[in-house]
Amino acid sequence: MKNEQDFTAESLAIAGGYDATSAHNSIKPPIYQTSTFKFNTAEEGKAFFQKATGEAPLEERNASLIYTRLNHPNAITAEYRLAKLDGAEDAAFFESGMAAISTTLLTFCNAGDLILMSTPLYGGTDAFIKKHLVNFGIDYVEFDPSDTKEQIKEKLMAHQNAKKLKVIYVETPANPTLALTDISALDELRQEINQEGIHPVIVADNTYMGPIFQKPLAHGADINVYSATKYIGGHSDIIAGAASGKDIYLKEIKKKRAILGNTASPFTSWLLSRSLETIGLRMEKQAANAAKLADFLAGHPNVERLHFLGTLTEEDADYGLYKKQYTSAGAMMAVEIKGGESEAFRFLNALQLVQLAISLGSTETLASHPYTMSSSNMDEADRLKSGITPNLVRISVGIENPEDIIKDVKQALSAV
Ligand SMILES: *Cc1c(COP(=O)(O)O)cnc(C)c1O
Repeated sequence: MKNEQDFTAESLAIAGGYDATSAHNSIKPPIYQTSTFKFNTAEEGKAFFQKATGEAPLEERNASLIYTRLNHPNAITAEYRLAKLDGAEDAAFFESGMAAISTTLLTFCNAGDLILMSTPLYGGTDAFIKKHLVNFGIDYVEFDPSDTKEQIKEKLMAHQNAKKLKVIYVETPANPTLALTDISALDELRQEINQEGIHPVIVADNTYMGPIFQKPLAHGADINVYSATKYIGGHSDIIAGAASGKDIYLKEIKKKRAILGNTASPFTSWLLSRSLETIGLRMEKQAANAAKLADFLAGHPNVERLHFLGTLTEEDADYGLYKKQYTSAGAMMAVEIKGGESEAFRFLNALQLVQLAISLGSTETLASHPYTMSSSNMDEADRLKSGITPNLVRISVGIENPEDIIKDVKQALSAV
């Protein structure tokens, strides 16, 4: 696209990052289903390798096409669009959210290093850190999202390897409890510990709200990570992940991605660049539907408690942070059904339009039971401490007619 600097991210997400003249003027990018790219001369091949593995500017690295595990045109288009939407310099797509998260953590952490993390984290991330990274000599310190900056610092400094802190990892809102973590407070904490020679990067899992309703980089985060399987893909038809942020960090993440070999394929990347065209539209409609469903659920006699950012009031401790860090309440909610696991299961089993499946962020409304499903790989004590209880049902609101969603949830609640 010409003169891209003149247009906003909202428009660049539709036609940016792709030059039609490179592909017979086709309006949409073709799928570059190739494993490797031909060099015009041996000298060009040599130069491409030097650029791809060296310090060349991003445009030159992107133009140095060598081999699809390293880089390819479909990934470049999708990465351009996500970077624009996130206000980032660059982005990287992966074959899953867990690939993006594990690759990012492995980029910044070596044996002896430390991770400071919010709780709860997505079940897979929690397990990767607590049950896998620890075997490589990488330890962690946990904090509660409601802890003050001082309390977090105290927990960090109590660890013998505090000086080796390399990553502050947050998931906000947390899956599935919607607990909020203040990113700018962590950036202040980071500035304090910088004085003591500790220089961590701040990584934010932006799956629940990004790239439309939360911009962690603007609040002091360095890197966003995503399950792009969720809102970015948006149609429950691919598994994918992403990272975005400053070029200096993305360059290192992409080097690790090339070595671990989990780069998003041309077809996955093509679907992602297609999906990024409609992400604003989808998330706005999902959020509008969620607000209507939340209104219905809030006063229902079979609902013990509703977790939804849109129903926070000025009395709630998280209200100020919600208004500061988010531009919408989003479309994720968690409902504590009155009773326990069997009442929650009766509700889930009675749903008809709303489908019982894990995952989230898609066009269809999905409901699931985190305690026995997506968070079941967390230790039970950790689950209960974070509010992942047997009566908790997670709902990801889709783009159906909102009255139909409410009608279905209403009849399922009456089956409880
Ligand atoms: C789903 C999810 C992940 C993992 O992503 P995959 O695409 O399933 O690998 C990570 N973080 C959050 C918040 C998620 O919801």
